[in-house]
Amino acid sequence: MSAGLRCKGWRQEALLRMLENVLAVGENPKDLVVYAAFGKAARNWPAHDAIVRTLMELEDGETMIVQSGKPIGVIRTHVHAPVVIMANCNVVGQWATAENFYALEKKGLICWGGLTAGDWQYIGSQGVIQGTYEIFSRIAERHFDNDLRGRFVLTAGLGGMGGAQPLAGRLAGAAILVIEADPARIERRIEDRYLQHRAASLDDALARIRDAQARKEPCSVGLEGNAADVYPEILRRGIIPDVVSDQTSAHDLIYGYIPSGYSLADVRRLREDDPAKLMRDGLASIGKHVTAMLGFMDRGSVVFDNGNLIRTQAKKAGVERAFEIQIFTEAFLRPLFCRGIGPFRWVALSNDPEDIRKIDDFVLERFPDNRIVTNWIALAREHVPFQGLPARIAWLGHGDRTALAVAVNEMVRDGKLAAPVAFTRDHLDAGAMTHPNIMTENLKDGSDAISDWPLLNAMMHCSSMADLVAIHSGGGGYSGYMTSAGVTVVADGTETARQRLTLSMTNDTSLGIMRYADAGYPDALDEARRSAIRHIPL
Ligand code: NAD
Repeated sequence: MSAGLRCKGWRQEALLRMLENVLAVGENPKDLVVYAAFGKAARNWPAHDAIVRTLMELEDGETMIVQSGKPIGVIRTHVHAPVVIMANCNVVGQWATAENFYALEKKGLICWGGLTAGDWQYIGSQGVIQGTYEIFSRIAERHFDNDLRGRFVLTAGLGGMGGAQPLAGRLAGAAILVIEADPARIERRIEDRYLQHRAASLDDALARIRDAQARKEPCSVGLEGNAADVYPEILRRGIIPDVVSDQTSAHDLIYGYIPSGYSLADVRRLREDDPAKLMRDGLASIGKHVTAMLGFMDRGSVVFDNGNLIRTQAKKAGVERAFEIQIFTEAFLRPLFCRGIGPFRWVALSNDPEDIRKIDDFVLERFPDNRIVTNWIALAREHVPFQGLPARIAWLGHGDRTALAVAVNEMVRDGKLAAPVAFTRDHLDAGAMTHPNIMTENLKDGSDAISDWPLLNAMMHCSSMADLVAIHSGGGGYSGYMTSAGVTVVADGTETARQRLTLSMTNDTSLGIMRYADAGYPDALDEARRSAIRHIPL
């Protein structure tokens, strides 16, 4: 099984393949940009090449240290220590502003790792799709008799993460219209089979949606346009969608959000010539954009912020009511996080889709009563195309993640899979992220902004033998808004991998449940009791 290895072992080789993969499925690999406007896999190409070289040279018992996308050295540790530890884009509080970030970035001193770009865990739009699907499903349960058929969802942004929206909406049964300013992104999502149709005009788009609603058929339509223009126009026509959201890169006013009236070329030019004007005009556009979202909300639409900081930006633009829009985590996902259920993922390092299919079969057999997971796996295997290395996401919880990872490790050991499998998760997971405007908004105990939790999460993974551990903070418009932690553990079929997976996976969800138990959430307190998690209530 070690044939084809370029590194000295599977742990190092796995991380190299994960790095190659984030670029293979990324949005703009030539600039090392993976997703979320400016989330990068490495600081620059020399840093990237040095990371690759070092991974190939690393012996067991050595650890590479990466600082904001640049490898700074190798230290002797021990065979149970991580292969790679990283700290990406962490800036001391008072200095953590967008302006300082861009200045440091220009000097080549820092880069933003997004959540899963800088630590090589991104798996394309498929990584966020179940999360988006679960949000739509919760909305269906709560507002539409558990059925989104015949319902109109309006949203925007078909980038790396936003590209999951049309497929997630369609899988949930809705007729979904996505506004996107860049026609190349529309084409890419059609090629990837995440989006069905490209509309020729707003009239055409609305007619397709109306038709799908009347037939109660799931349907996804992309329309080239600027959301700050198209949303107000739809509102002006008195057409009120059932659900409204947005996943443009509103968090980043230089590399992400495209202001109304701007072409892509205008944005590129102003980035260099007059970034202050670009930011001003971006904010003004977001003001219009969010005012229209509030208009839809006032007329009955279910409106939510899908984690792109658009309300925060709108507030800066003077939209006083922006925070009347609910955040998706608090509104729909927190009850799952309280039980340690979150976006768990695995990646077939063999590049063989058959490995994922075998793991799918195992999951369906092993967790027959877990409706969230069995429903998702059945949908995903039929409808979600693989991008890059075949991978799967499934919202598994405490204990189940460990059970799966250990079983897969045995499948690798017994030669049932073609190669080892990497286990990882999104940073947006129970104990792994502090972001007071996204993940930790309105916590019961008011601990929204305390970032001890992701730091503890990373230290815990280092103490639990994980293979890669990363601490990230926000860059661009996210500067000063977030801290999070990432982890990867490789199931290479060995006994030590079994120990790594058991400790890391179990302690990850334990800490997540403790975080919410500590904040006083009854579900988390109940889960801690049920699962014999040694939370210390005070
Ligand atoms: P991306 O940069 O790859 O794509 C953003 C897209 O928005 C681009 O295609 C861009 O052309 C389009 N766009 C920008 N301004 C527009 C406008 N005014 N009108 C129409 N289209 C416009 O980013 P991404 O990876 O898709 O992420 C999108 C946002 O979602 C980011 O802010 C990201 O941080 C956030 N995000 C949320 C979650 C979550 O869990 N909910 C996960 C990942 C990312």
